[in-house]
Amino acid sequence: MANSKFEYVKDFEQPDALLPNTWIVVRIDGRGFHKLSDHYAFVKPNDRRALDLMNAAAVAVMKDLPDLCIAYGVSDEYSFVFHPTCQLFERRNAKLVTTIVSTFTAYYIHLWSTYFPSKPLQPPYLPSFDGRAVIYPSARILRDYMSWRQVDCHINNLYNTTFWTMVQQGDMSNTDAEQELKGTVSADKNEILFKRFGINYNNEEEIYKKGSVLYRQYELQQPSQEHEVGDEDESSISEPKQSRSQQDKLKKLRRKAQVVVDHVDIIRDEFWQRRPWILS
Ligand code: ATP
Ligand code: ATP
Ligand code: MG
Ligand code: MG
Ligand code: MG
Ligand code: MG
Ligand code: MG
Repeated sequence: MANSKFEYVKDFEQPDALLPNTWIVVRIDGRGFHKLSDHYAFVKPNDRRALDLMNAAAVAVMKDLPDLCIAYGVSDEYSFVFHPTCQLFERRNAKLVTTIVSTFTAYYIHLWSTYFPSKPLQPPYLPSFDGRAVIYPSARILRDYMSWRQVDCHINNLYNTTFWTMVQQGDMSNTDAEQELKGTVSADKNEILFKRFGINYNNEEEIYKKGSVLYRQYELQQPSQEHEVGDEDESSISEPKQSRSQQDKLKKLRRKAQVVVDHVDIIRDEFWQRRPWILS
């Protein structure tokens, strides 16, 4: 241990541990991806390669960090969720956010050429991401957070699909399309798509309409964070305690589990009821 007269500077560091026993969501978002997507000529409104690349980087993050229980991505953003029992980095905010952001960015850049083989990355157009952590006190509110992101995906995708169809197939200028869409509601956009272009929005690809949800799929046993058999006292105010070996076993199971990429409704109960281990 280095011991010097300079060590006092360490006392200037601010503690930033996130509240215990809460869900931690780290949301990252591409910096200036509007420009970046122009530079590399992403297909508008949805470049499938770019979304697959986002998902591949997110899967790598999930595999790297077994404390993550679910992730949701749309456009240039991804939300990663840590379980309330997570103790990684003593729950220090900066450590968690920077680790997610840099791991994701590293994989995104590493995998770029797989998804865009004919478009090598060129400085200064290099992908980077910002990130923040928010804590949520209950599974209900965490689910509302996830619903909020998926509703956002839907609203943006319906708008973008209509806008780009008017521009690409309707030969309208960007300004004219934007002007006509001002103040319209969902039903109006569905009608424009259907009546003018014969497009039924419901038939658009699920990945565009619903975004991407990542979770672990287990072959046999599903790991449970819950108490031992017989310990069913729901009113207990103490946190579920796990022994070291239980924790290690869980971690091993999580590491071995397959990470699934799905494009489904996560607003209704069904998704969660069918996969109770995700939030348990
Ligand atoms: P900021 O740095 O503030 O986040 P930004 O330019 O990244 O600015 P966002 O609001 O994050 O703005 O929007 C991301 C933009 O990136 C979208 O509006 C879209 O233009 C583009 N984009 C992201 N993913 C895709 C994709 N898969 N296909 C086509 N365009 C995409
Ligand atoms: P943590 O994730 O907690 O930071 P760590 O393994 O990165 O763990 P650090 O305290 O950050 O531990 O120390 C970084 C270690 O990386 C050094 O102890 C050394 O072993 C190695 N290292 C870093 N840079 C070099 C280098 N230029 N040459 C040789 N070894 C290096
Ligand atoms: Mg942003
Ligand atoms: Mg962005
Ligand atoms: Mg964004
Ligand atoms: Mg170091
Ligand atoms: Mg280090």
